[in-house]
Parts: sequence; structure tokens; C-alpha cells
Amino acid sequence: GEPVLDIRGLSVDYGLGDAAVHAVRDVSLTLHRGEVLGLAGESGSGKSTLAYGMLRLLPPPGVVRSGQVFYHPGDDEPVELMSLSAKRLRRFRWAEVAIVFQGAMNSLNPVHTVATQLTDVIAAHEPRTTPAARRARAVELLTLVGINADRLGSFPHQLSGGMRQRVMIAMALALEPRVVVMDEPTTALDVVMQRQILAKLVELRERIGFSVLFITHDLSLLVEFSDRIAIMYGGRIVEDAPAGQLYRDSLHPYSDGLLHSFPALRGPRRELTGIPGSPPDLRAMPSGCAFHPRCPKAFDPCAERTPTLLAPDGREDQNRTVACWLHTADRAMT
Ligand code: ATP
Ligand code: SF4
Ligand code: MG
Repeated sequence: GEPVLDIRGLSVDYGLGDAAVHAVRDVSLTLHRGEVLGLAGESGSGKSTLAYGMLRLLPPPGVVRSGQVFYHPGDDEPVELMSLSAKRLRRFRWAEVAIVFQGAMNSLNPVHTVATQLTDVIAAHEPRTTPAARRARAVELLTLVGINADRLGSFPHQLSGGMRQRVMIAMALALEPRVVVMDEPTTALDVVMQRQILAKLVELRERIGFSVLFITHDLSLLVEFSDRIAIMYGGRIVEDAPAGQLYRDSLHPYSDGLLHSFPALRGPRRELTGIPGSPPDLRAMPSGCAFHPRCPKAFDPCAERTPTLLAPDGREDQNRTVACWLHTADRAMT
């Protein structure tokens, strides 16, 4: 498929100079049209920082140090987000790429009804619509995410967590964006609810046609619902592959570890062995491959040389990449 969002060499720091934490390191990642792309990795691996960074929504002291992000509107020239004016960027955000943040369901305004919040989003971006038209759109959007229109007058506290999250999706879809980014929190939403929400997004994607970047810890969820999966470790993408390939035949030992950290929803049961050790300290990253202190397969080059994300040896036709010396030795060792 054609790319809709193309991240090229994005690096994000928190802070400046020697005190800087390099939270995202030279990440390149492509979201294709109509695709559901899952991004997984342990807590602190940089998933949210990547999502915030690519839309220039980083809270201070976060700064994009380098890289470009191209948005392809389809019929028009690509737009580079890092160089876009603040004004154009604001318009762009809800209308072209909508993002539902970690914990977003708690960001609904407690003193306004669901109807008001939905119609406000539409009014802010399309001021020429009539109140009646906005209300009709609000009903349509709620129905779309499976909430009965009689809930329009409800306040957020009158809705369940899952319903609030679906209201957030309705708000994200209000302006018919081409891309929806969903950043799921570690603990706040349970797996059952995450599953319902992702299932809903996938269903809507098929009906309306947008692309999804879904961020979660739960790889089993991504195996079930996404087209591609990218795995992040210590601020880098370490493996990027079609979901089925990643599940059946993961190449990076860290991906392997993650797959054995969650019970599989489908398919053969895996032994849950988890990953020994803990995520790297971003202020004191291990030399070479950042995963080497935890890697059961580490060998000679791993502690000294950092592997880059490349097509694996002998699988150049498989539309996947991996950053591991086990699979890129031919080119990397010479
Ligand atoms: P989680 O799954 O827990 O949401 P994540 O993969 O989204 O984790 P990020 O929130 O992107 O991870 O954080 C990446 C790294 O950046 C972490 O090590 C975190 O400590 C660091 N970090 C995040 N925000 C800040 C900040 N404001 N100042 C300094 N460091 C930060
Ligand atoms: Fe393990 Fe070496 Fe591959 Fe890193 S490069 S994941 S340490 S085998
Ligand atoms: Mg996060």
C-alpha cells in the first residue's frame, strides 16, 4: 500500500546537553493507507514519546532533535510536519491525524454533556455548520462507536470507562481523519476493554477507511487485530513485520520474549517465560545492542556494535526488518 505517515530518522530527547535523555533514537516507521499498525514494547521504551513527537505535542522538556515526518494526503503533495507552521499544524491535528492519548477518557470535561463535547469539536473546526447539523453528526458518531443516541445528554461520570473511551474515539473520528493514533495506558484499561476498543476501531476502519497506529503493551491483542507490528526497545524499533510473521516467526530475541510474556488469545499456548532483567536505563544505555545484557542469544559482536534495522539475511522479499546481529550478519560483519 501507499504510505500515509512516514517517519524518517526521528530522535526525541527530554532535556538538553549532557542531561538529555534520548527517549526515541533514530526511528523510521511507515504507516500505510488503510493499515492497522501496532506498536509494542515495555514501559519506558519510548512509544508515547514517538507518538507525541511525530505530532509535535511533546510536553517540555521534550524536544525533537532530528528527523522528518511526512504526511501523504493522497491527492496532494506530502506535508512535512516538523517544518509545518504552528497554525497549519493545529488544523492538521484533529482533521487529518486524530490522537487519543493515554488516559484520554479522563480528559473528557466533567461539566459538559457528551453532546456538547462532540459538537464543540465539530464547531471549532467547521464553524460554518449549523447547530442542528452538528447535533446530527454527534448522533451519527455515537451510533458509529456503538453508543445509543439517548446517551447524548449524559455527563462523563454517568458513563462506564469503556463508553468514555468510545466517546473519545467518536471525537477523534468527528472530522474524518485519515489517521487515528491510539495510545493505550499500561494499567488503566484492562485487557478486555482494550480488546473491545481495538475491535471497534478495526471494524470502523473497514467501514470508513482510515489508518490506525495502536500503541499497547499487549502483543496478543496486536497479533489478533493489526496488519503490522513494530517492536520498540530502548527508544529504537528493533523489529517491524507483518503481524502473522511476527507471531509465527519472530526474529528479534526481544520480540520472542514479549510474545512469551502474554497469554495468547488464539493458536497454540505458549509457555510464559517472560524476559529476564529490566528495561535499560536511558541515561546509561548498554553498549552495542541495547538488549545484550538480557539477551539469551547474545554473541561476539553484540556488546560492541549496535545493529541497525535491516531486511533479515535471506528474507529480503518478506517486507520486514530487524535490528539484530543474528539476522543481519552477512552485511554487517564485513
Ligand atoms: P508506557 O508503556 O509506560 O506508556 P512508553 O513506551 O510510552 O511507556 P515513554 O512514556 O515514551 O514510554 O517514555 C520513554 C522514556 O522517556 C522513559 O524512560 C521516560 O522515563 C522518559 N520520559 C518520559 N517523559 C519524560 C519527561 N517529561 N522528562 C524526562 N524523561 C521523560
Ligand atoms: Fe541479542 Fe545480539 Fe541480537 Fe542484540 S544483536 S538481540 S544481543 S543476538
Ligand atoms: Mg506510553
